[in-house]
Amino acid sequence: MIESLSYLPHPTLPGDELAGHFTDLAPPLTARQAAIESARCLYCYDAPCSRICPSEIDVASFIRNIHDKNINGAAAGILKQNILGGSCARVCPTEILCEDVCVRNHDFEAQPVKIGLLQRYAVDHAHFASHPFKRAAATGKTIAIVGAGPAGLSCAHRLAMLGHDVVIFEKEDKAGGLNEYGIAKYKLTDDFAQKEVAFLLDIGGIDIRCRQVLGENLQLRELHARYDAVFLGLGLGASRKLGLTGEDAPGLLAAVDYIAALRQADDLASLPVPKRAIVIGAGNTAIDMAVQIQRLGAEEVTLVYRRGFDAMTATHHEQDIAKANQVRMLTWAQPQQVLLDAGGKVAGMRFEKTRMEGTRLMGTGETFEVAAETIFKAIGQSLANDTLHDPMAALLQRDGDKIAVDAGFRTVLPGIYAGGDCVAPGQDLTVQAVQHGKLAALAIHHDLISKVEAA
Ligand SMILES: Cc1cc2nc3c(=O)[nH]c(=O)nc-3n(C[C@H](O)[C@H](O)[C@H](O)COP(=O)(O)OP(=O)(O)OC[C@H]3O[C@@H](n4cnc5c(N)ncnc54)[C@H](O)[C@@H]3O)c2cc1C
Ligand code: SF4
Repeated sequence: MIESLSYLPHPTLPGDELAGHFTDLAPPLTARQAAIESARCLYCYDAPCSRICPSEIDVASFIRNIHDKNINGAAAGILKQNILGGSCARVCPTEILCEDVCVRNHDFEAQPVKIGLLQRYAVDHAHFASHPFKRAAATGKTIAIVGAGPAGLSCAHRLAMLGHDVVIFEKEDKAGGLNEYGIAKYKLTDDFAQKEVAFLLDIGGIDIRCRQVLGENLQLRELHARYDAVFLGLGLGASRKLGLTGEDAPGLLAAVDYIAALRQADDLASLPVPKRAIVIGAGNTAIDMAVQIQRLGAEEVTLVYRRGFDAMTATHHEQDIAKANQVRMLTWAQPQQVLLDAGGKVAGMRFEKTRMEGTRLMGTGETFEVAAETIFKAIGQSLANDTLHDPMAALLQRDGDKIAVDAGFRTVLPGIYAGGDCVAPGQDLTVQAVQHGKLAALAIHHDLISKVEAA
């Protein structure tokens, strides 16, 4: 936890400069830029950008609407498929999705249409007199959702559209999940996560109850008995361990814990910032952590990964962001020992060089040390097992360390559904969680209506 870093100094940069380091990484388009960019779109038939979108947004149509100055039409088209289209426009790795397959992304132009920024333009500039979606006639059914992250919120909104009432039980003080507590601050600025939640709730019929924790003051068995269906959008609440002695020493913590504190800080100058930091990992969380601690004022930030650049899950675009922010990236090295000072606090880490032997990653025996006051672990998240320990939750079938579901996001327990990062299918991306929530809502609706018709 970040309290364990209280002995570290605070940022020395002037307040304005510090705040400036956390404004939009990619500035929004002006009206003129949006007009020029939308004119570059070829409105392809059977457009590859639309086919690859995990939330099935009709990209070509919304860009056409922007070009025709029908901004409300463009936004409604996006939000119909993806009610969190505003945050997805900001956080989606478009470089490996729609913009990667855009037909203008070829060798000569090498410049896809800026789909993410156009999507942001449409959603940010739409002016709806009231919430753009209406609720169907009330069904009299109430569905419980656990977790107010992108999966839970998307599921709730679609269920409300279909005429159901929804109660969301959320562990934290605020809704939004990782949009509120995890995404890099320079990707979602200006309290956007809360603004988006407020917009979504405008549909009506959704009641969010915070500080309600499944596994503590809530049990799955009770929810199952009390509600017509239950959707679990729990995310992945536990940080993986390095398995080294000294893992609990002051100065070593999970990157997600620091990022949550950073996102919630009213005053960035109050955060503890080491002079030298090590980040262990190879995904977007590792890159986000390294870049943010550098922007807070750390002088030497070293990201270490046990394999090569090509095996990193962070995209090339994210790796470029790290390089542009003077993050030193060391590959082919694995943590061997946490180095502590005389007071038992982190002083650095010893790494062992690695290499591949056939398909196996091996230590070479050669070691080196990196000095640092803080080590951030970004080696992945897993399902928090204490959440699912009541007798009913224990019956949920697992797929690896996630919850197993079918194509309709039904778990093995009738009436209980799950989606987002806590289930096996797909990548752990915001857009994927939104799609899971939407599809689960359709399955819940189908199952409830079929039951009524059969009765
Ligand atoms: C640091 C970081 C950066 C990321 N950056 C990006 C990015 O740039 N782009 C991108 O597309 N994806 C990114 N992701 C992934 C993305 O944030 C997730 O895929 C997405 O948030 C998953 O949504 P979810 O609703 O499944 O889970 P979450 O967003 O984790 O939401 C789960 C919710 O359930 C609540 N909850 C958990 N347990 C309980 C319980 N027992 N009782 C009640 N409530 C509970 C949590 O408090 C939370 O609100 C990032 C992830 C991390 C960790
Ligand atoms: S692939 Fe590119 S050019 Fe074609 S419709 Fe999509 S954004 Fe437009």
